[in-house]
Amino acid sequence: MGAGIGGLACAHELSKDPNYDITVIERWGTVGGLARINPISVEDESSSPLYSEYCWKAISYSYVYLLQIMQEIGVLENLLPLRTFLYDNGTLEYGNSFVTELDLLRSGLLSFGATWGDIAKLAILYLYVKALPESFAQTYDSIPWNDYAHFLSPVARRWLVDSTAIYLGMDYKKISTYTIFRFIRAPRVVSNLVNPNFRFYSLNGRMDTHFLDIWRDHLIKAGVNFVLNKEITSVMTATKHYVTTQDVTATYIRDYDVYSADILVNAMDVGSLAKLFPKYNTLAAIGTYVQCQVMIRFPSVVMGESIMEKWAEAHGITLSQSSIFSKRGGIGRELRGAVYICANSPWFLMARYEASLWTKGNGPLSIGIGIWDVKGLNNKTALECTREELAKECWMQFVGKCSELAAQEMPEYDIWNTVFYHPQRKTLDTIEPKFSNNAGTYHLRPEIYEADTKLYHATAYAKTNMDIYNMESAAEAGTRAAQLIIAHHK
Ligand SMILES: Cc1cc2nc3c(=O)[nH]c(=O)nc-3n(C[C@H](O)[C@H](O)[C@H](O)COP(=O)(O)OP(=O)(O)OC[C@H]3O[C@@H](n4cnc5c(N)ncnc54)[C@H](O)[C@@H]3O)c2cc1C
Repeated sequence: MGAGIGGLACAHELSKDPNYDITVIERWGTVGGLARINPISVEDESSSPLYSEYCWKAISYSYVYLLQIMQEIGVLENLLPLRTFLYDNGTLEYGNSFVTELDLLRSGLLSFGATWGDIAKLAILYLYVKALPESFAQTYDSIPWNDYAHFLSPVARRWLVDSTAIYLGMDYKKISTYTIFRFIRAPRVVSNLVNPNFRFYSLNGRMDTHFLDIWRDHLIKAGVNFVLNKEITSVMTATKHYVTTQDVTATYIRDYDVYSADILVNAMDVGSLAKLFPKYNTLAAIGTYVQCQVMIRFPSVVMGESIMEKWAEAHGITLSQSSIFSKRGGIGRELRGAVYICANSPWFLMARYEASLWTKGNGPLSIGIGIWDVKGLNNKTALECTREELAKECWMQFVGKCSELAAQEMPEYDIWNTVFYHPQRKTLDTIEPKFSNNAGTYHLRPEIYEADTKLYHATAYAKTNMDIYNMESAAEAGTRAAQLIIAHHK
């Protein structure tokens, strides 16, 4: 049930065993779930379709399950290292990245004005968290990390608390302290610190053409059946399971189909799961939030490139052909796939210019919003904005102190079409909410197999070793669900 990364990973692993007859039912016409892209047809003279990726996805070197699958279907060479991170305070990182890296933590904290006192407190916290017995560590799940980290100075909190949640794609105010503790306690954190190969990657192209469609075709060849554009509306479990679906493409007459199966795998988002199995209602209510990416579409690739250069220069970063220099010291060497981090913007925007990744169409700038509940320059939070206001505000915040860009007209924009402004509630909403490891969710999240419902959970919010809502967690849950199915039915 569901063709996101988790559902595909489960089908992938099961398809290696010829004893299984596998059908994947998906409500959309494309596979990949939240990791897919959104095709938009543009009526320009070239009439080439412009694809707006939901957003670029970071794939970590430490993603064991996902990288294994990518190797098996032959797409590993499509990975592009994310090497350069440009900050709006003029700092620059190059090489190993994100908050798991010790050197970055130290340089990041100091360059953002944190004190040595903060660093000492964090070192003590690190030792404390490492020493905690597991059952005691779990009691921290009820505390939001934002509240727990009050002992840090405000600047360190902004850098460490806000940005950690934002980099992990989580709700920065609600992310559970236990999730952060698990991150600290994981053995991979230590090995990553000393591993020179530790990198983040993204795809050197679109998620569909460079990964998801290749995967779907691989699965079809392996005998997996896909039923697309069918939304599962009810499930009946007896000795056999019966799944009813509705055709989502039919406008007036709804087509109903019933499928039967011996084994059911849930690979849907938590909201859909709760509709079918009410025991997950609380999890769905407290564990999700709206997150989306705004695509700014430039009239020409050249203009897009010059916009990014102007932005960098206005923020004290000089770009030369082979190197990038920061006014605060530091040198980067790779602009392709560079990430622009507007840490000082009210919504903590992260942007990436994607022209180099796209073979056709205009080069889009993809902007992600990190903070959804703080007022922007228009005096509204991201959640209170209409789609138009959201795009305009992102552009204004991104432009920031670059007066040359501020003088330009805002380019065209696009927002993933499942995100909409709810006229009654007067807030932004989505029919595809993103799960966040919020405080209080750990004990509500399903194990990969649940005996009472006889359901296998191949989803990123299941309890996994990765335990953070991302593509690796989905790939892990999917693979392990398949392995459990095979073990249980030997
Ligand atoms: C903006 C954004 C940025 C992200 N960035 C990253 C990143 O950089 N790195 C990373 O690793 N992860 C990232 N993630 C997280 C990652 O995309 C998800 O964790 C992962 O894709 C979830 O996979 P899944 O298979 O568990 O669920 P989903 O992708 O939600 O798949 C569920 C599938 O089930 C289908 N479905 C739901 N209900 C029904 C129904 N009733 N009937 C039939 N089908 C149904 C859905 O249409 C969907 O295809 C990001 C997510 C978002 C939203």
